[in-house]
Amino acid sequence: MIQIVGRDDVVISGDVAYFEAPRLKALGLVNHAFCTRRGSVHGKPHPSAILGGGRDQKRSCALLHMESVANTVGFEPKRLVTMDQIHEDRVWIVDKPLPSSGRSANCRSDALLTDQRDIAIGVLTADCVPILLADPNHAVIGAVHAGWRGTLLGIARKALHEMVRCFGTRPEDLVVAIGPSIGECCYEVDEAVMGPLRSSGWNWQSFSRYKRKGKWHLDLAQANIQQMRDAGMRDERCSWIRICTACNNDILFSYRAEGTGVGEQISFMQLRG
Ligand SMILES: [Zn+2]
Repeated sequence: MIQIVGRDDVVISGDVAYFEAPRLKALGLVNHAFCTRRGSVHGKPHPSAILGGGRDQKRSCALLHMESVANTVGFEPKRLVTMDQIHEDRVWIVDKPLPSSGRSANCRSDALLTDQRDIAIGVLTADCVPILLADPNHAVIGAVHAGWRGTLLGIARKALHEMVRCFGTRPEDLVVAIGPSIGECCYEVDEAVMGPLRSSGWNWQSFSRYKRKGKWHLDLAQANIQQMRDAGMRDERCSWIRICTACNNDILFSYRAEGTGVGEQISFMQLRG
């Protein structure tokens, strides 16, 4: 059975609040956190925004927030690699140490895999689904950004397949953590989204609910879970932080609840040294 983590399980430490995936933590292999907006400085661009990810204010703020979480969880912020997430299905593999500057150019992709211990990998989301993957047998980790377009393209399944192909991962060994995303309760879509999903040939009925004329509600997290199950993931190795970003807008950023450009939360993971 998938382990469900709720709002009350939030970890509060000093100024920061974040969520953990217990099954990921229990491995003892990685440091990780699904950050919230608590402790963030959104609205105040910071000149020392770190790494290449600071392409705009909200990302700078997410990264700045991450600095304080990094101190709590235990990794160096300058070792963080993030992506220019583009809602496609490209998987970026980092298999070399970072340059001595500790900086790496961002890659246009929506999944990031690495076996490097000096790299923390991160994904930024507001309503999309952040997914962290860890293969304890080969010490390989991954971070996935899955919105509806990426989900339709099978980004989570593809990241898993790339772990198998490039690192020899056995899907049944994979430990998976699904972070907070917009829930079925709040994720209303129209024909512009349902049309492509219907014609994909995938079983979208199991993740969508008809609400009224021209409107459906989608469960993106469940859709990604099913993709990974189909690829061999076992429910007993999965933790799901099942908290709707829109319903919990006081602690999580949500585009649906407050519009784009307000902020994003960062989810990250690093192999322990
Ligand atoms: Zn909701």
